Amino acid sequence: MTTLLPIFADQLSHSLASLQFADKATSRVLMVEVRDEAETVPHHRTKLILFFSAMRHFAEELREDGWTVDYVRLTDPGNTHSFTGEVGRVLKRHDIGEIAVTWPGNHRVLETVRGWQDDFDIRVTVSPDDRFVCGTEEFQDWADGRKQLRMEYFYREMRRKTGLLMTPDGKGGETPEGGEWNYDKENRKPAKEDMVFPETQRFQPDGITRDVIAMVKEQFPTRFGSAEGFFWGVTRRDALTSLDNFIEHGLASFGDYQDAMVVGQDFLFHSLLSPYLNTGLLTAMEVCEAVAEAYAKGGVPINAAEGYIRQIIGWREYIRGIYWMEMPGYEERNFFGNERLLPEFYWTGDTEMECLKNSINQTIEHAYAHHIQRLMITGNFALLIGADPHAVHEWYLSVYLDAFEWVEMPNTIGMSQYGDGGLLGSKPYASSGAYINRMSDYCENCVYDVKKRVGPKACPFNALYWHFFARNEDVLRGNNRLNMVYRNLDTMDADKRSALMEQASGFIDGLSQVKAEEYL
Ligand code: FAD
Ligand code: SF4
Repeated sequence: MTTLLPIFADQLSHSLASLQFADKATSRVLMVEVRDEAETVPHHRTKLILFFSAMRHFAEELREDGWTVDYVRLTDPGNTHSFTGEVGRVLKRHDIGEIAVTWPGNHRVLETVRGWQDDFDIRVTVSPDDRFVCGTEEFQDWADGRKQLRMEYFYREMRRKTGLLMTPDGKGGETPEGGEWNYDKENRKPAKEDMVFPETQRFQPDGITRDVIAMVKEQFPTRFGSAEGFFWGVTRRDALTSLDNFIEHGLASFGDYQDAMVVGQDFLFHSLLSPYLNTGLLTAMEVCEAVAEAYAKGGVPINAAEGYIRQIIGWREYIRGIYWMEMPGYEERNFFGNERLLPEFYWTGDTEMECLKNSINQTIEHAYAHHIQRLMITGNFALLIGADPHAVHEWYLSVYLDAFEWVEMPNTIGMSQYGDGGLLGSKPYASSGAYINRMSDYCENCVYDVKKRVGPKACPFNALYWHFFARNEDVLRGNNRLNMVYRNLDTMDADKRSALMEQASGFIDGLSQVKAEEYL
């Protein structure tokens, strides 16, 4: 009796749980390019190219490794364009006795997979995804009974569990390397003027990728995002090359300049590894072990190594835990009751605000922006204008190469839009132009004046910032971390305050609103 092993676009790991437990002689892998998935939101064309090309390469590698693979291309005749439709077709083609799946990265897909048991009257087993450091039940256990789910405490548990950057304390236990758990306070430097950034690791598209590029251009001719200049890796070997390149050239300065933003510099010292981690071409532990090893050899400061490892075993794992703990329902969280759609320039980059123009245009070009651009430029602006967190979620899920729902949704709805009312973050990530000016050179090149709060040339972020806190006063005033903001609002001259409110509401009223599906 044959076991069917469906593998999804984010499961391209030879160590995948369902492959580990299966017998090559009695299993059949199923991989499908599914149009329905490509059309849930307007996924960037670079993202479609990466997924389809990496899937085709992975299927080839599995075949070379002795697996039997059914691979259905997007344009194959008969493709039903849904996972369930393709499982149905394969069950007709072959004598399949059971289906074994590794836990998917999306709650909707998990429900679909579980439904196959009844749809096809067949046994379906779902294995936990052991590529993550923390299991979903383990996270739930950690969260149970805690009043506040702070990432920092979860992260310390993960440091203890993995032993990463831990050292003997001389009393039979372990203590954090360097004496501190967290060096974040050292990681907030703006870039220097004459700074030289490392070369981005780029790969020439091979025949498979070139075919996929042509197919994506043909099948999605008006889709958001550039399909030109594709340079991303599409195999595990490429991903490992990118990891080595980052460790050698980027890691040492990653910590110091993690939050910096520079006009025309799209990548700075960032690793660009999230697409490889999230598709499964790299695993979290191998990346962190490589970083810890580089630190141990010398030449990489502790704030860089710790900062990087925290992003992965801290933030990435914590975000996943929140997703599975809160789903379903998290996608509709809207603490402030916001209803606006995003302005059209989120899809076109056509704005005079230099910070947004840079962050959005590089997103259109590469399907990439780094964390602070996502959080403090596009995310901050959406929060300040009162955008509906679900609309913001659809945008982030569409436009970034690394966006899978489990990781994108809590980052957007929770961290960036405070839609969960503080489950994930202790206060909203709202800032005026001053923060952007401190961390970037955007303002030097902008038509707006970052020092001005009102008037035609005033930086829009300034009035929007005060408008945000004033209009949400009833739900935010009690937050101790915002005492200073409300003290300033309370003591603000009444004329000044009303001028700011007028400036902000006039600006918001002038913004367009578009639905994501207009860009499908
Ligand atoms: P680096 O700056 O080099 O960081 C190293 C790694 O740490 C990343 O590759 C990533 O795997 C991990 N990491 C860092 N921060 C986070 C985080 N907050 N959550 C999860 N992992 C993290 N990340 C995604 O992988 N997919 C998303 O869809 C996504 N959406 C986001 C949406 C918003 C609104 C925000 C604020 C952040 C989002 N992030 C997302 C987190 C972060 O911005 C990206 O992981 C990072 O920019 C990827 O680029 P990099 O590989 O060069 O990262
Ligand atoms: Fe952005 Fe304001 Fe600076 Fe212009 S002045 S780049 S709008 S923060």
